[in-house]
Amino acid sequence: MGWTDERVELLKKLWLDGLSASQIAKQLGRVTRNAVIGKVHRLGLSGRATPSKPARPVFKAPRPPRPVSAPPSAPRRIAEPVVVAAAPPPRRFEPEEPGSATVLTLGAHMCKWPIGDPSSDNFTFCGRRSGEGPYCDDHAAIAYQPAQPKKRGGNELARSLRRYI
Ligand SMILES: [Zn+2]
Repeated sequence: MGWTDERVELLKKLWLDGLSASQIAKQLGRVTRNAVIGKVHRLGLSGRATPSKPARPVFKAPRPPRPVSAPPSAPRRIAEPVVVAAAPPPRRFEPEEPGSATVLTLGAHMCKWPIGDPSSDNFTFCGRRSGEGPYCDDHAAIAYQPAQPKKRGGNELARSLRRYI
C-alpha cells in the first residue's frame, strides 16, 4: 500500500489536527498505526508545529487513584462489628475460694494445695480428695502442667469448694 499524494495530504491534515496515529490509520484505512508513525516521521511532522490551531484534546482524563482502603460508605464493614472471639480473660487460679482444710484438719488424702497467704489467718488448703499425688485433680493439673493454667475445671472446683465450706 503506497502513499498517494492525497493520502499523504490527508495524513498531514489529520496529524496537524492533532489526531493520534491510530486514529489517522483508521481514517486512512488499509494502513497500520506503525505505518502512519513511520510516514509522519519521514515527513518531518512529528513536532506537530501548529501553535495557531488548538489541538483537539485527545488526552484521557487520568483515572482517579484507587482508594487504598475500603470506602467508608461500605456499610457491611460498619454493620458488622469486629467480634474479637470473646477471649476469656486470663483466668488465674488465684485468688480463689478458701479451701476446706486448714493445717489442723488437713488429712492424708486431702489436697494440700495452699490457698491464700500462709501468714494470714485465712490461709487454707484445698482439702478436696487428692488423687495419687498430694493434690486433687484440678490442682495437680496446675501443679504439673504450668504451661496450661487455664484448666476448665476452675469454676467447677470453686463450686465444689463452696459446697464443702
Ligand atoms: Zn485441690
